[in-house]
Amino acid sequence: MALLQISEPGKSTDPHNRKLSIGIDLGTTNSLVASVISGEAKILEDNNCRLIPSRVLYEQSQILVGNDIPNHALTISSVKRLIGKKKDDIDADNIALELADSNEIFIQTPQGYKSPIQVSSDILKKLKKIASDYFGDEIYGAVITVPAYFNEGQRQATKEAAKLAEINVLRLINEPTAAAYAYGLDSKKEGVFVVYDLGGGTFDVSVLQFNEGVFEVIATNGNSSLGGDDFDQIIKNYLINKYKFNSQSLKDQAKLNLIAKDIKEKLSSQDTINETIRFNNLDYQIDISLSEIEKLFAPLLDKTIQCVKNALNDANLSTDEIDGIIMVGGSTRMPTIQNHIKKFFNQNLLNDLNPDEVVAIGAARQASVLSGQANDDTLLLDVTPLSLGIETMGDLVERIIPRNSTIPIAKAQEFTTYKDGQTMMKIHVVQGEREKVSENRSLGEFIVKDIPPMPAGAAKIKVTFQVDADSLLTVSAEEKTTGIKTSIEIKPSYGIEESEIRKMLEDSFTNAVNDKKFRSLAEVIVDANQILELTEKAIQDDKQLLLESEKSTIERCMNNLKSEITKKNTSKIKLATDELNNASMSFAQKRMDNSIYSSLTGKNINEINK
Ligand code: AMP
Repeated sequence: MALLQISEPGKSTDPHNRKLSIGIDLGTTNSLVASVISGEAKILEDNNCRLIPSRVLYEQSQILVGNDIPNHALTISSVKRLIGKKKDDIDADNIALELADSNEIFIQTPQGYKSPIQVSSDILKKLKKIASDYFGDEIYGAVITVPAYFNEGQRQATKEAAKLAEINVLRLINEPTAAAYAYGLDSKKEGVFVVYDLGGGTFDVSVLQFNEGVFEVIATNGNSSLGGDDFDQIIKNYLINKYKFNSQSLKDQAKLNLIAKDIKEKLSSQDTINETIRFNNLDYQIDISLSEIEKLFAPLLDKTIQCVKNALNDANLSTDEIDGIIMVGGSTRMPTIQNHIKKFFNQNLLNDLNPDEVVAIGAARQASVLSGQANDDTLLLDVTPLSLGIETMGDLVERIIPRNSTIPIAKAQEFTTYKDGQTMMKIHVVQGEREKVSENRSLGEFIVKDIPPMPAGAAKIKVTFQVDADSLLTVSAEEKTTGIKTSIEIKPSYGIEESEIRKMLEDSFTNAVNDKKFRSLAEVIVDANQILELTEKAIQDDKQLLLESEKSTIERCMNNLKSEITKKNTSKIKLATDELNNASMSFAQKRMDNSIYSSLTGKNINEINK
């Protein structure tokens, strides 16, 4: 039966229906919100600030976020490091947060205990408000970015935070994928890209493969405690050693950190620094050259290069197989980093966009596509990694959404009853490429009840599979005569690892021939059993229409078919089924004549012609 294309969620056919969408880079230190305005992705500012510190201050009567927080206030920061984690997952001693007794993480605030999800949701609320204030309108939905290494729990927690902030999440996307969107790499046919992301406190490297419209993260590596701050430390130590800056107190240390950071950032645009720095009422005359400092940076750079090598190794790729290198994170502004990476890959870098903003820009572009505002051709959507279908008679899978289908997607197919008078039908949803139900992943099941009793094959149950932009699958079944609908929601990606998907695909290739044989056999057995059941019932109901000789021929054919079914030879079962069909043909004809006769009995010719 042909598959039907029903609708694509998130798409509006009404050109006047304004669906404002935003991209959110929910960062550890800073967050950003962007939107596509007149075809161009733009960062939305909060009182002229583009970066919104991911910090929250809970006071008795108010919650302040980001730039609204007064200087030096003690705030909750870096909550992204805790989201989706349990107390057992973290080194609680290193975290200056109060933890409640359970294994859940809670942070004590003047407004009571707050979970990382609640804190993140307060940051998200602020970002949403920046956008709705900018547009003076409601925000339809957002794409939120998460690190490629985030597990299902961390992703789910991020979504919960968004839900609490009343944000309609169009999709979560990986940060490196967003960066690739920002550079429009999805307009290419295919390619392999490296995203080098060096921020203030963390370093991530990802290898992305772009194929058939989809980015797949094929390897990640990094160091969660390596970033711009470490470069600041090197300069700070240099100032202490060479110029004898004296920083005893914690406050002095903090001040010196800022001086070091300033020097580092200046050295990204000038080769030397020649200036007097006033520190603790003393003047220090400094004369620093970039080349001198670059030598000190070398060990940190080598660490990042080692991570890049590991990622390439995991992806089984060499540097000359890489089609582009995207630079993300404020620290990639350092010329020494750019030169190193350029040399390592022996090619120019993708670094024209602001490295702090590239992730939010990519997320905004993707949000614009998912909300139906952009031209579909500009960005391609994600796909289903494995096929989705339901169990049918004979332990067989009927695939409804084939693997690699672009999402969001909705497809429907009609199914019918197997037996006369059947009033219930089990819908067992499975995922995978194999023909046999048990070789696939079972995702869930539900029962369609109250099907009106009808002859086998007469009932019509429309089963609809709908996968939204977040890969959430809704399966619904509608009995056409009563219109009664039953449905379930499933997250097909839940609990499945990339490696498992690969293995399932490999298994389907290696078993392709056997699977085909299995399907052919199962299908003829289903047909054969159905004919056997129908014939048995017909003999029971209308045996008076049968001559003894006919009856014994039919019974011989039935026994032969039953015995062939046990031997499991496809062509012999087919042959035996045809024999039974032929043998019972005149019986079937007699039954039909008889039923026509009885329906006409007692009526005159005028009534019949009516
Ligand atoms: P991010 O976490 O991506 O916002 O990056 C923050 C880090 O980028 C901090 O360590 C900054 O000092 C660093 N950074 C920002 N601008 C520059 C620059 N021009 N040169 C060197 N480092 C920079």
